[in-house]
Amino acid sequence: MPETGLPLKPYHLFQHRGKHYCLNVEEMQAHALSEPEASLLERYRAAPDAQLSTEQIALLQKLALWGDDAKQTQPKPPEPDVAPLPVISLTLILTEECNLGCVYCYGQENNTGRMSEATARRAIDWFVGQAGNVQDLNVTFFGGEPLLMFPLMKKVADYALAKAKAASKEIAFQITTNGTLLDEEIIDFLKEYQVRVLVSLDGPKEIHDAQRPFPDGRGSYDLLLPKIQKLLAAIPQAVAHAVIMDDTDPVPIKASLKDLGFASISTNFASLASLDFADGQKAAPRDFSPAIAENIKESDAWLDLIKKRDSQKLHHLAKNSHLLTAMTALLHQRKRYHACGAGLGLLAVGTSGDLYLCHRFNNQEEYRLGSVDDNTYADSAYRLSPTLFNPLCRVCFARYYCAGSCKYDNAASCGSVHTPPKEICQLRQSELELAASVVVSLSKEDQEYLVAQGLIRPKPCLLDF
Ligand code: SF4
Ligand code: SF4
Repeated sequence: MPETGLPLKPYHLFQHRGKHYCLNVEEMQAHALSEPEASLLERYRAAPDAQLSTEQIALLQKLALWGDDAKQTQPKPPEPDVAPLPVISLTLILTEECNLGCVYCYGQENNTGRMSEATARRAIDWFVGQAGNVQDLNVTFFGGEPLLMFPLMKKVADYALAKAKAASKEIAFQITTNGTLLDEEIIDFLKEYQVRVLVSLDGPKEIHDAQRPFPDGRGSYDLLLPKIQKLLAAIPQAVAHAVIMDDTDPVPIKASLKDLGFASISTNFASLASLDFADGQKAAPRDFSPAIAENIKESDAWLDLIKKRDSQKLHHLAKNSHLLTAMTALLHQRKRYHACGAGLGLLAVGTSGDLYLCHRFNNQEEYRLGSVDDNTYADSAYRLSPTLFNPLCRVCFARYYCAGSCKYDNAASCGSVHTPPKEICQLRQSELELAASVVVSLSKEDQEYLVAQGLIRPKPCLLDF
């Protein structure tokens, strides 16, 4: 829906299950509206130049849409070009090879690069050297399948720890693996080096085997299962990461991962297929209607379970819940300016030492930001917040929740990191609307209950800095 012009702050009106709501976009505030209030705002929108009635002014003031500072809250011009931020999180693509042939893999089939030890050392040298005053750094081992390069991984970990220590810094490690190569030695290493482990596991056997087969078509689930059990026995906090195809119901997937013993589960929609951006390939539009339908059910469940104080089911619902993220943003009135850290403190190093916006842009020349071999790294193109300069996002009511969507998905669908696909926008916008419909129904006691349960953090104090 269009937003109003000056001097009001932008707002978004919507209905859910026959009730009216208003979102104060700049304040990240949700309000329930009565029928007459909704029609007052509709009348204003239909004739913004007409004389405002006393009732309309009172309503606009109540919704914090009317005020002396309204003009100042309109989107500002782009931020000036500034020096690169220190990179605090580096993804090392140790190899482009993989021992599985997942149906949604975005890796380029003919890319088989492997990182040399010399390149890995230069990457760590560059990473630690550019970090300035930043104390805590993160290295993610990635592929392909990074455990194909386990001997190199061990050397890199030791080298990175020594390098960080010499610079009085700390380095934490993470790995994203398909888990098929896990054995006792690898699990011991992951435990000893406190590596945060994300294992890709797509849920029940039939789904996992269909989506994550070996190149010869055999499913990988049966091989994986005993390895997962050993991993969880040693590292109970290991995270299961499930990739969900657009038309798959996420509920049984999450349930099956929980049954396997994972306390932490993350899910993501399948990446857009392997594309060669240089050839101008574009991904086909996706259908998020099952996810939106699931979110509608989830919003009902949130309200019902909060009112019933059903702690156990609420904690289950909270796992990887986008609605909870949106609810928290509204309760905290928190604005987000970037959807992710890609190019803003997070970078990937390809096998040859080239720096990319993130791991998904590996080998895409257009998104190469430099190399660990020289000092050409430049991130200025990605410093501007989509909420301020992206033509679609700067007028979108969900801009401070979504903040521009995944740059890879944008580039793969629309040819530019700055242009989001409309089906993603529909999904994100519906998440914020549904979260708003829950939040307006929460009493002070409900909110205190959510904080006491650790489901949302206490609202940060404005004086904390
Ligand atoms: S990507 Fe779409 S939903 Fe997200 S802020 Fe931009 S326009 Fe809005
Ligand atoms: S661009 Fe997309 S894939 Fe890359 S870090 Fe951001 S959200 Fe993740």
